[in-house]
Amino acid sequence: MNTAQLWQSALGELEILLSRPNFSTWFKETSILSYENERVIVGVPNLFTKTWLEKKYHTMIIKAIRNVASISIKDVVYKVEVLDAARKKAVQAFPSTQATFVASYGADTPRPGIGESPHPSGLNPKYTFENFIVGKYCELANAACLAVAAQPGEVYNPLFIYGGVGLGKTHLLQAVGHEILKKDPSKRILFVTCEKFTNDFIQAVRSGRGKELKDTYRTVDVLIIDDIQFLSSKEGSQEEFFHTFNTLHQTNRQLVIASDRPPKAIPAIESRLLSRLEWGMIADITSPDLETRIAILETKCKDKNVELSSEVINFIATMVHSNIRELEGALNRILAFMQLNATPLSFEKIKQILSSITTSYAKKSITPKQIILIVSEFYNIEVPDIIGECRKKELAMPRQIIMYLMREEIKCSFPLIGTELGGRDHTTAIHAYNKVKRDAEQSPKVKQDLDLIRQRIYNI
Ligand code: ADP
Ligand code: MG
Repeated sequence: MNTAQLWQSALGELEILLSRPNFSTWFKETSILSYENERVIVGVPNLFTKTWLEKKYHTMIIKAIRNVASISIKDVVYKVEVLDAARKKAVQAFPSTQATFVASYGADTPRPGIGESPHPSGLNPKYTFENFIVGKYCELANAACLAVAAQPGEVYNPLFIYGGVGLGKTHLLQAVGHEILKKDPSKRILFVTCEKFTNDFIQAVRSGRGKELKDTYRTVDVLIIDDIQFLSSKEGSQEEFFHTFNTLHQTNRQLVIASDRPPKAIPAIESRLLSRLEWGMIADITSPDLETRIAILETKCKDKNVELSSEVINFIATMVHSNIRELEGALNRILAFMQLNATPLSFEKIKQILSSITTSYAKKSITPKQIILIVSEFYNIEVPDIIGECRKKELAMPRQIIMYLMREEIKCSFPLIGTELGGRDHTTAIHAYNKVKRDAEQSPKVKQDLDLIRQRIYNI
């Protein structure tokens, strides 16, 4: 096993544990420089990354390396080293990291100027319709995307796709862009994350480059915006987006938008913008069924030219059911092990690898405070309000949801739940738990909120 392979497998582990932006921000352009005296030296691109890895991810990194290495490792140290062109290429060839670079810019990454992105359209060649597997769970979204790609600006405008993390929204959005370009390379497509749009807007305001912003966003044939839920509470950006939307829509140019929830559920969004988001077609993506998960694994194996028995594929598909990103992560990890060992792994060994993944998901310890934070963020409410006294419905419902999730997800005792929520009585917690449980059975909206919040809890 050489150091490149070792690092690649360790990255495979880390990718599963971290959110996508975190992973891409902190681990791109890293490598193992050397291994001596049971000590691994990890090369990082700058001091900022070095400090961050030391402070935040050191334990996780050591664990990841130990997990995949057959050699003894006592310590990991970080060293700033700028990669030369050849090494940079090798590092970026790592399949799962590459995909993340297009859409997210971390704090230490030089931010492109307005509208600039590594590729002019912001599209990543990895995400096309050809390699998107369609199952019942995403049939409507896929069909709508195909229809829009066939006749941009003419059928559904805007097209709004929503669903939880890792379910293929970004993939589909990008596929629309590719498909349109394939048929007509002269079309001007712009794919941006909502974060990029917001940053561009702020930058334009600061530097008085409003015209440049308009020239970039209001002149394209197709504007694709990912994760629009982040417009919540950003009034200036909402206004800019509202006008951008109008300009494009009035001239029959296509908008494709993705979000982790339906338009109505995006908190703090202006009603005139909300109504526009609902103008065209809204399609959701739910969780993939077992059959689709199997089909996805089979295709990914074929793409990578590896063979896994159907027994193994079934096993992975059964164990990893939350989303497709995790499914891919699990597969990559197994393939990395296979590569390192050069011989086919026994079924027992694969089982062992997978069970360590599934327990590492389960173990990712979630605290009552995290649940409070995530639910407050989800409903766009301040923490002191959510744990405070006020009984307004807008606060009471999220508060009850917190109590329910504390019980359901992390098995807190009712007295502890009461304490965490500003010293409430345990009977209040019991009442809240029962109420939300009932509501979840009767109201699709409550059930959907709970699903989306759970996805956030398990994907932080
Ligand atoms: P989201 O934007 O919903 O969080 P992504 O589009 O980033 O999810 O998908 C996560 C990963 O799963 C990507 O690598 C993507 O290529 C893959 N993926 C998602 N859905 C499918 C699918 N139906 N077929 C093949 N790959 C998929
Ligand atoms: Mg996405």
